[in-house]
Amino acid sequence: MHFTQPNHVENRRLFAAAAGTDKLEVWERRHLHVCEICQGVFYVFVRQLTGAASLPPTENPPAA
Ligand SMILES: [Zn+2]
Repeated sequence: MHFTQPNHVENRRLFAAAAGTDKLEVWERRHLHVCEICQGVFYVFVRQLTGAASLPPTENPPAA
């Protein structure tokens, strides 16, 4: 019965994919598209990585 519901993608795999250091397998990408739990974890990693790299310019507008 293990084929009815595939396992969730490992957090380390989601982090690697978000960081661009590794690519997800086909089943992992398919699962990510349909699993809200894995999507949530993945977007948290993406936000952390992108947020740390560059802050939005509108965050602190210059006082003219
Ligand atoms: Zn999942």
